[in-house]
Amino acid sequence: MRVLLVDLPARDGFVSKDTVVGGYGSRLLPFSRVTRIIGELKRRFLDVPSVQLAHIAAILARYGHEVIWSRGEIANVDVAIVLSSLVDHRHEAAWADRLRRATGAHVGFVGLAASKLPELFRGAADFVVIGEPESAVERLARGEVLTGDSVSAPAPDLDALPFARWDALEERGRHHVPFSPRPYGGGIPLLASRGCPEFCTYCPHRILAGHRVRSVSNIVDELETIRDRFRNPYVIFRDPLFTADRERALMLADEILARGLQLRFECETRLDRLDPDLLDALHRAGLRAMSFGVESVSSEILRRVGRRPTPEPHQRAILDHCRRRGIATAAFYVLGFLQDDWASIAATIDYSIALDSSVAQFKLLTPYPATPLWKQLAPRVYETDWEKFDGFTPTFEHPHLSPRELRFLLGAAYTRFYMRPSLVAHWTRVTARPVRSMVRWADGRIARRHARKERASMSRTVTC
Ligand code: SF4
Repeated sequence: MRVLLVDLPARDGFVSKDTVVGGYGSRLLPFSRVTRIIGELKRRFLDVPSVQLAHIAAILARYGHEVIWSRGEIANVDVAIVLSSLVDHRHEAAWADRLRRATGAHVGFVGLAASKLPELFRGAADFVVIGEPESAVERLARGEVLTGDSVSAPAPDLDALPFARWDALEERGRHHVPFSPRPYGGGIPLLASRGCPEFCTYCPHRILAGHRVRSVSNIVDELETIRDRFRNPYVIFRDPLFTADRERALMLADEILARGLQLRFECETRLDRLDPDLLDALHRAGLRAMSFGVESVSSEILRRVGRRPTPEPHQRAILDHCRRRGIATAAFYVLGFLQDDWASIAATIDYSIALDSSVAQFKLLTPYPATPLWKQLAPRVYETDWEKFDGFTPTFEHPHLSPRELRFLLGAAYTRFYMRPSLVAHWTRVTARPVRSMVRWADGRIARRHARKERASMSRTVTC
């Protein structure tokens, strides 16, 4: 059987799919000068291939089927499996429909969006996989013809899955870029666990299946295959909470070193699941960048969405340690929680600057389908176009802030964080005291200019 695995590039804006926002994906349509630059950088560095499709490829190959990767190219095949997203679902469905008509291929969708909102894809597909795709794909590989909604049970033992296959992927990680640990063209994604053991009510990472982990030896076996396939690989661990288990993370670092794998890697985690000793061990094993959610500076706001706050001194200590070790940091923030107002959002933006991560991402609170937050906010949701649930568009009636104000504050967050001399000093690792004090002085002047511009456009925003 010839099978086409399809990860469509987005119709417009910068779209991340696969494991981003649990698989719903996000779309950045630039709305300011700063977000235009960020969108371009994301296109160059964050276009990571789909690890879900690579696992599907491995299962099909295990049964001797021919696998062809597609970024939108049409081919004569027996079956096509299309990666779904929420933010680009119309484009994906239209493309699948065209493929079906042109080639007569049996077409199906996989992914979180297809699992939770199959009605968006049914009209364009012969089957829609509901759940983690591996068990349905295994049935397909054995000769079953999947039709309609094909329920697929989560993999109980992640070690039993074959390693992701990257045969068709071009060489990655060869072109290094100044100030960025991630090479030009991205890296190789790897899932060392699935799901998340935490309870943040807004998070889509925990709504498809429970938290499960792979054994350390199984992960490092896969890392060895990546090392054998790519020169100087840069691995992107896509687990939402990579250091959930401290002992396991230490064992993983030890095993990477014991096997002499010369890797560089990045991961996503929570700051309260890190300490200097763990960071040092991971850094020795190749950790060069990490991302983490700060979300809001207000502990009370975080508690209201089921998120355990991390004490500020701990956050600052971890960031300081990362700077000393040369580990790049990406902090995520969410604006527009129900208790948020101008003052609390301004405080979160100020905190993002004080924390001084290497990069920051600000998004608007979005009630994603099937999350506990969706159930809570459904009566307030006015947006009916699922593609607008992209993390940058207001979607529900906020008790204190209008959609214009939310967008304004989102734009201000990006401008304030990225347009300041101290960020350049951070990237270039300037430590000389006289230069740092000059940078602080310049920061103050720029901040005052931002404030003047914000006041001017704020009055326009609030009155129009
Ligand atoms: S810590 Fe919270 S936001 Fe992060 S992946 Fe887990 S549930 Fe989601």
